[in-house]
Amino acid sequence: MNIRVEIDPRSGFCHGVVRAVEQAENYLQYSSRLYSLGAIVHNSVELERLKKKGLEILSIEEVAQLHDDVILVRAHGEPPETYELARRNRLQVIDCTCPVVLKLQERVRETWRRIRASGGQVVIFGKKGHAEVNGLVGQTGGEAIVISSAEDLAGIDFSRPVALFSQTTKDPDEFRQIAARIREERPDAEVYDTICRQVVHRHQSLVEFAQNHSVILFVSGRESSNGKVLFELCRGVNTRTYRVENASQINPNWLQDGDFVGICGATSTPKWQLEEIFIYLQRLGGK
Ligand code: SF4
Repeated sequence: MNIRVEIDPRSGFCHGVVRAVEQAENYLQYSSRLYSLGAIVHNSVELERLKKKGLEILSIEEVAQLHDDVILVRAHGEPPETYELARRNRLQVIDCTCPVVLKLQERVRETWRRIRASGGQVVIFGKKGHAEVNGLVGQTGGEAIVISSAEDLAGIDFSRPVALFSQTTKDPDEFRQIAARIREERPDAEVYDTICRQVVHRHQSLVEFAQNHSVILFVSGRESSNGKVLFELCRGVNTRTYRVENASQINPNWLQDGDFVGICGATSTPKWQLEEIFIYLQRLGGK
């Protein structure tokens, strides 16, 4: 088959995930096992690689049973209760909370403390139950209101002040729409666009990348919320966009002679996985 293939130079792990994976791998150079509270990255292939090195994923219930051990907190961060639990159980924490998320937690906490006296509500635009969102809600003693879509706006009391934040990986356009709807009801609402700049830049560059290729292979784990958003973004501008987790899921019928295939991924997709797809396509005749 005569096709051209290119990897998106801007795809690959974001800084926060790179940092967490590096810290886990550094630790595992000197120890045969490390417990991670939740999946360090929403990517089953990368998780398998790390599990072989000794990384074990535990739930919060399992961590509660540990004593005098070491746990890793991933880039998404955790609510204050997790650190209290670690103190009680004498657990050493390798804290890989992304600095961007840490800053966001501080802003949410400070805003909540400031506005609660006047009945204010902190609203977080994010995925309900997502670890980062749980960590943010934890900064408000569980009081923050999480909204995933415009339908959830009914849960906000617009007779009271509102401060809106976003989960770092949400779609910037959707956030703008939600913010506009909130401002219609409450013109003085505080709106903080806290989407990670890496995510925003990736949105912009991916649209161009998807437009400039005849086929897009979008590589990401099914559980990745950033993966879902970016895949839909690519499919919105290029209908020949396919989501895969590894090369075995590629259907050769998706490709035709003369295609220019673009390979890209989510902030939780490592570069090596994109390169594996590239090598596979080269074997099919890609250049
Ligand atoms: S997407 Fe941004 S905020 Fe989230 S972990 Fe990556 S670098 Fe940090």
